[in-house]
Amino acid sequence: MPRSKVYKEGMNYLSPSQYETAELCTRKWWFGYGPTKLPRPPGKGTDFGSVVHAICERFLLADETGRVPAPPAGSDHALLGGVAVPVWKDGPFKGQAQGNPADIFPPDWNKVDGRTLNGSESAMAKTLYEAAVEGGVLERRPGREIEKPVEGPIIPGWELVGYIDVAYPDEIEDHKSMGQIRYALSPKKLAQATQMLTYAYSLIQADPNLDLVRLRHNVWSKSPLKVRKIEVPVTRAQIMANWALFQEKARYLTEWKTFDGVWQDVPGPHANGACSKYGGCPYRGICSGGQDLAEYRIQVEAQQKELEKSAKRPDQGRSWADLWDRDPETLTEGTEMDIFAKRNELVGTTPPETVTTATPVNGGALAPVAAPPPLAGDVAPPWAF
Ligand code: SF4
Repeated sequence: MPRSKVYKEGMNYLSPSQYETAELCTRKWWFGYGPTKLPRPPGKGTDFGSVVHAICERFLLADETGRVPAPPAGSDHALLGGVAVPVWKDGPFKGQAQGNPADIFPPDWNKVDGRTLNGSESAMAKTLYEAAVEGGVLERRPGREIEKPVEGPIIPGWELVGYIDVAYPDEIEDHKSMGQIRYALSPKKLAQATQMLTYAYSLIQADPNLDLVRLRHNVWSKSPLKVRKIEVPVTRAQIMANWALFQEKARYLTEWKTFDGVWQDVPGPHANGACSKYGGCPYRGICSGGQDLAEYRIQVEAQQKELEKSAKRPDQGRSWADLWDRDPETLTEGTEMDIFAKRNELVGTTPPETVTTATPVNGGALAPVAAPPPLAGDVAPPWAF
């Protein structure tokens, strides 16, 4: 469904994905969400996941008999058999009439921002969908809410923002697409996943008597071509412990949200391999000393324009992987370049510590802090969730 959150002026917003970025490297978070708000390279390896999410959304939003639900208010109407029937103007069922069998693969189902998935990925998405329905990974159970917004205060000056793929009163599901199934979390790791525990907090807030929340990842793997559901129950105590860490992170980031000094003063990676994780940090060129912030911005804007241009060409748009001549999902930790050694070589300075530990302000105590000053231009943050 289209997301239409209204952001409050002067409020800072923290999503679980931002938390995870900051946990990996405060500087990486600061580049994207601090005053510089550097853009990220377009469509980086996320098109397959976006298509999978759209497939899941259409399947789950359809009613129990697989028919198109009522569109949002303000829809158009079409005459079907002499009767005026509401038709979706936009969104997951664009062009489909209420009550018709839902078309899970409508025209352009495999397009994202004008870019089309290649034939192999399109075929994989269809095969995985069939396996997901057959294997009960995608199931229309009563009471489900799709793309449920999550919001609320974290500490003064900070609010939680995010969306739950599928929510029930006592369960949360998230669709996870991945290149290789070895990236799927084990139940034990899932029980520690910040994103899921943070969303679970919204359920126990809504129901004070809820003591257990079931977390579930619906895994869509390309290699091997397989879907799998991974589930684990978590207790209220586990959820509250995660929430305390989330609050602590917001407190820590307050200092950096408005820090407008040089990037070298912002703490670097907090874990080994942070710079190469998820196909490589987009800011490696800066941290290696090979590029300044302005050059990075120009490069990303040029990439965005190139993708827009190619999307308009009749031979279809190119993907991020085509543009960069590599498949981001095949990149592994083994591809990490020693960016700090490279920077040292380039600028002749002492490299920073490879791993640093973030020291929360207030010594990590959970006492409330004053609200940070309002940020100009923070009304509609550009991040994607
Ligand atoms: S390249 Fe490494 S140090 Fe630089 S922002 Fe990215 S993760 Fe942090």
